[in-house]
Amino acid sequence: MPEGDTVWNTARSLDRLVGQTLTGSDFRVPQLATVDLTGRTVESSASRGKHLLLRLSGAVTLHSHLRMDGSWRVFAAGERWSGKPAHLIRVVLKTDRAAAVGYHLHELKLVPTTGEPALLGHLGPDLLGDDWDPGEAVRRLAADPDREIADALLDQRNLAGIGNLYKAELLFLQGIWPWTPVGRVATLPKLADLAHRLLTANKGRWTQSTTGSLRRGETTYVYGRRSMPCRRCGTLIRKQEQGERITYWCPTCQPEDLGR
Ligand SMILES: [Zn+2]
Repeated sequence: MPEGDTVWNTARSLDRLVGQTLTGSDFRVPQLATVDLTGRTVESSASRGKHLLLRLSGAVTLHSHLRMDGSWRVFAAGERWSGKPAHLIRVVLKTDRAAAVGYHLHELKLVPTTGEPALLGHLGPDLLGDDWDPGEAVRRLAADPDREIADALLDQRNLAGIGNLYKAELLFLQGIWPWTPVGRVATLPKLADLAHRLLTANKGRWTQSTTGSLRRGETTYVYGRRSMPCRRCGTLIRKQEQGERITYWCPTCQPEDLGR
């Protein structure tokens, strides 16, 4: 699923449209079917957590969220759209030089640019934002000490940008059992700092790696590695549901009693 760095990368790919005037728009969602953005200039493209904000002249922002399966692809004018099947297209924005095609986007809406804070106000500090605030992230995480740490890390109101992959990898790297209550995690500042470093390291590339290797099959320690040997200790990696999500962990490197 898209994590903060994926969304950030997507915003950078949409930068290709900045400064260009839209020569056409085609919304394929009912609520925006009659909207025509022709003539508006793309002023900037930004990500906040997992939200994408495409700001247009006339002080309007096209908001989208990738959730698990959404994506934006930018193609040169005339280039074949080699993204996903056409029935997944939710919007097409065209300029003289390019076409931005949004597939399976969620929460697609047009808002006044001044309305962005209201749209995003619930988000915690953005791991990839210029204003990343680790102290505030730690404060928000610590505010609910009984919550399971894996769950707390995924909550975008605590800190914005962590998805399931980084959640699992962060907890492995810090040796924390995913069900540990937040109040028993002594290393919240380290965890926040590591999250920032991991996401930052993957900015600008589409392969997410927490191990330092970009080779297929070597990019994670525990995520996606059920029943495979731990890279550190050889114990078989476990996978289990935790709330509505899946958690991977090494029972040896992330023992249940740690932090008690
Ligand atoms: Zn291990």
